[in-house]
This record gives sequence, C-alpha cells and structure tokens, in this order.
Amino acid sequence: MNEMRNPTAFLKEEYEELVKNELDWKLRVLQGPSTPWCNVDGREVLMFCSNNYLGLSNHPRLKEIAIRAVQTHGAGSGSVRPIAGNMDLHIELEKRLAEFKHAEASLVYQTGFAANAGLIPQLADRGDLMISDELNHGSIIDGVRLSHAERAVYKHTDMQDLQRVLEEAEKHSPPFRRILIITDGVFSMDGDIAPLDGIAKLGAEHGAMVFVDDAHGEGVLGEGGRGIVSHFKLGRDKVHVEMGTFSKAFGVVGGHVSGSKDLANFAYNKSRTWLLSGSHPPAVAAACIAAIDVLENEPQHVRTLWERTSHFKKAMKDFGFDIGTSQTPITPVIVGESGVAKKLSVRLFEEGVFALPIVYPMVARDKARIRTIMNAALTKEDLDFAVGAFEKIGKELHII
Ligand SMILES: *Cc1c(COP(=O)(O)O)cnc(C)c1O
Repeated sequence: MNEMRNPTAFLKEEYEELVKNELDWKLRVLQGPSTPWCNVDGREVLMFCSNNYLGLSNHPRLKEIAIRAVQTHGAGSGSVRPIAGNMDLHIELEKRLAEFKHAEASLVYQTGFAANAGLIPQLADRGDLMISDELNHGSIIDGVRLSHAERAVYKHTDMQDLQRVLEEAEKHSPPFRRILIITDGVFSMDGDIAPLDGIAKLGAEHGAMVFVDDAHGEGVLGEGGRGIVSHFKLGRDKVHVEMGTFSKAFGVVGGHVSGSKDLANFAYNKSRTWLLSGSHPPAVAAACIAAIDVLENEPQHVRTLWERTSHFKKAMKDFGFDIGTSQTPITPVIVGESGVAKKLSVRLFEEGVFALPIVYPMVARDKARIRTIMNAALTKEDLDFAVGAFEKIGKELHII
C-alpha cells in the first residue's frame, strides 16, 4: 500500500514557491472610496493604477441612484435571470446600453469575465476555428480553452500574420465551418489599440466573425466614450460582437455583449455563466444605468481624461522616461529589470503615489514596468505631484 500522502500539502508548497519567487500578490487595502487622493493601507496617496478612468465609481449620481435602487428593489435580485431574478432594472440597463452603443441589442452579464467565459465557447465548436491575438486577455484565453474548436494565434496586432493564418485556414480539409477572430480592443499592458479596421477588413474577406473585447476602450475611445467600434467608425456588419465591462471606466461592475438582436438572443440562451449564476443586485444595475446617464450628459469627463493623459505623457517623456508606445490613458513606465520596477513602486508609494509594478511573466523579462492609468478626476496639480515623485525616484534609482 502507498504511504499515505497529505492531500493538501501542495497548497502550502505551491504558495511558498510563489512567495520565494516573488510572484505572489501582496494585497493593499483601500480604506474608503477609489478617489484621486485615497487611503491605501492607512496612507493618503494619489491613485495612479485604478481602472476608474472617469472617476465614476464615486460620482454622486451613481451613488444616489444605487441607494434609491436598494430602497425600491432590495439588496439582492433573488435568482438567476432565466428563473426569477430578471428585474426591470436589468432590462432597462440593456436598453440604455444598446442605445448608447448604437447597437440593435445588448446583453448584460455579471462581469466581463463571465461574458467571455460564457459566450466565447458557444461561438465555435468542433470543426470550427478560433483565431486570437497572442496578447489577448486571460478571460478570452479561458473562453477559447472551454471550446472544442481548433485554435490559432497571430502575432500581436500583426495584420500580415493574421492574413497568413486566415489563408492557411482556407486550405484546411475538411473546410472549417466557422471562423472567429477575437481581439482585445485596447491591450492593457502596453495601452496600444488593436487595428480593428484591418481585422474587420480581413474578417470580411474571409467570411469570419469578429469579436472585440473593449474593456479598456469603453468610456475612453470613440464618440463620447462609446468605444473602439465608434473610434474606427466601423459597421456592425463587420464587427459582430462588441464585448465590454462596467468595472472600468463605467465605475461599477458588470459585463456585456452588444451587437445584433440575433447575437443577444443566442448569447442569453447559450451562455452558462449567464444562465446559471445570480443576476446583478439592483444597486449594481441602477448604478450602471446612472453611469450611462453621466457619459451621455457630462461629456467633459472623457475630454478631461485625454487632456490629463497628454499632459502626463509629455511630462514623463520630457524627463526621459521610456513610456512605450501607448495610444491610450494607460501609460507604462518601462524600467527593464523587475527588481527596479518593484523598488520604484515601493518608493513611489512612500512618496504618496500608488502605482503597481508589472513584471515577468505578465510582460517580457526585460520590460518590467510601472503601469499607470490616468483618471479624469486627477487635477493638473496632482499630475505635477506624481511626475515630481517619478523624477525624484527615477534619478535616485538611475532610471533617468
Ligand atoms: C478587465 C478585463 C476583463 C474583465 O472584465 P470584468 O468586468 O472586470 O470581469 C475582460 N477583458 C479585458 C481585456 C479586461 O481588461
């Protein structure tokens, strides 16, 4: 008989392995709202790494509407949507979002992750092909893995390589029944924008369905923050699935897919994450509606976000920092070795700026960085404060 093993020993061993390699997450605690100056671990610091691009998470309208929804609809929805948890607030949110997106229909999921993990595996099956950008988000990767379709990856944003994959797919025997191309809209590590016009064109030439995950583009790109499809002025006949999240610029939580009525009908009947997981509490659905109100009625937030972004990027470049090739309010400050990035983050925090390091394996070994994310609620003085801290520590650590 085998010697009895401890069936849970791996929990501790693997965790300790992560700690040893400094790959474990050391969680910081936000003690209060996510605002430009906020309390993190008991310290007043400038928030420079939230996804709350427009400052909506603490916007008075969102808070007020959320409180009202608790009073009228309660704290929870009571069920999954297909059974008894489909509230008028969920329907209203979908209607308002579809109007905002100029789409025929939208379907709201509990999170963006639930949208990708629930819908993507249903869009292609055995005998089909899914083609993915090599740097797509983990929720897309998981969605693709849950499908029985064949997979191919093209080089990051490389349209020649996508064309090569599509041409090879055409020679496949037996022919693929369906081809699905999936891309992030804005890539969160570098802040670069997918060439969605090129992808849509190649997709149309090869009869492929095109799916874009616009988590970091919504509230940021396009007319009034309508996202990447609006940014490229593309028709919904070319980009068939626009997926997004309410957890970033919209300041709340939730995911969605927008497109045709056929897409929404298919998606809600087939996505297991939608069918088998409880629906948003009333406060969440109502706050998401309020976020759309704010985007429609207060266009200044998106404008300010871009003004602040250019101000910050210019100042950082002038000081000689390597800020990569970002085209969006995500600004990586690339320093090379992971040890330097970690040290920079710790020192920034001591000086009152909260921004996290991103290191291998999330980015290449020699491309460790601090990832900063701009926020429309930051003032010019806040930015000058942050840039001052970067300058001081950049010199201290011989980065500039
Ligand atoms: C954040 C993110 C998601 C997940 O969205 P949640 O609503 O937070 O679950 C999906 N895709 C991309 C590209 C993201 O950046």
